[in-house]
Amino acid sequence: MDNDRDAACERFRTLGHPATRGRGEILRILAESPLPLSPREIRERIPNPKPDASTVYRNLTLMVSIGLVRSVALHERSRRYEAATDGAHRHRVVCRTCGRIESFQPKRCDLSRIENDIRGALGFDVTDHSLEFFGACAACGGKKVKR
Ligand SMILES: [Zn+2]
Ligand SMILES: [Zn+2]
Repeated sequence: MDNDRDAACERFRTLGHPATRGRGEILRILAESPLPLSPREIRERIPNPKPDASTVYRNLTLMVSIGLVRSVALHERSRRYEAATDGAHRHRVVCRTCGRIESFQPKRCDLSRIENDIRGALGFDVTDHSLEFFGACAACGGKKVKR
């Protein structure tokens, strides 16, 4: 965790951006959240004095551009963000009925066949992926599961 943070500071510095308190808070909040967060949710979690919304948004855009944060599209109006340094690999599960988002950590995620197809068809070397699944959550009529 501390190593991640040092690496993040280093990354800001080498790219000529100071590691401000606001940026550090955003990274901490994203690293602690199992779900990708919207800019509004991120701002709500920053302790006072809060930066204004446009500052949060600008910092997120910067952090995406230097690879510290990933932006996740979940077919909503607003984008969500997650820490790119988080080692855990997760997929999103979205309820079509109530909009609830859950994260699912697969035991094994082997997409090598699809990745090979993509390489064959497009000559594209896949290094990462983002998967979203849509359906009905337990409260909205999906199967009840033991937690
Ligand atoms: Zn639901
Ligand atoms: Zn995966």
